[in-house]
Amino acid sequence: MRFGVLCALFGALALASLAGPVVDAGATSVQGTLIQRENQKPVVETKDRKRITLEGDESTLHVLHDKRLAGVMLDAKGHFLAADRFQVEPFHTRALHVVKNGKRLAVTYWCDVCSIRSYEPGPCWCCQRETDLDLRELKE
Ligand SMILES: [Zn+2]
Repeated sequence: MRFGVLCALFGALALASLAGPVVDAGATSVQGTLIQRENQKPVVETKDRKRITLEGDESTLHVLHDKRLAGVMLDAKGHFLAADRFQVEPFHTRALHVVKNGKRLAVTYWCDVCSIRSYEPGPCWCCQRETDLDLRELKE
């Protein structure tokens, strides 16, 4: 009985792989706790305790390495490269959000002095003062 179920499962897998490479299975998203470790790629730990390594462009990784974001509930749009590797969509698509109290918040950085908002951590491009992390509620 059990064997039959397994056969059916393998059959389905074989069929799926026969279908050929899927160009874009469509963007999906992962949600989990952001874990940062020295000199390593950022990881999210999902609710079912799976750890998924995040890949992304320079700006995306820059944000993901911001110490102020350690331990937040992260929501990243992109697609899986493997069961434990996830490619985040390009930074300009705003693929990264923080989830707090059931709300999706945009990750932004704010300079109080110049009233300038930016989307990556670092010094304000105007006065060079370190910008503040400012998680903003999205208007939807
Ligand atoms: Zn400034």
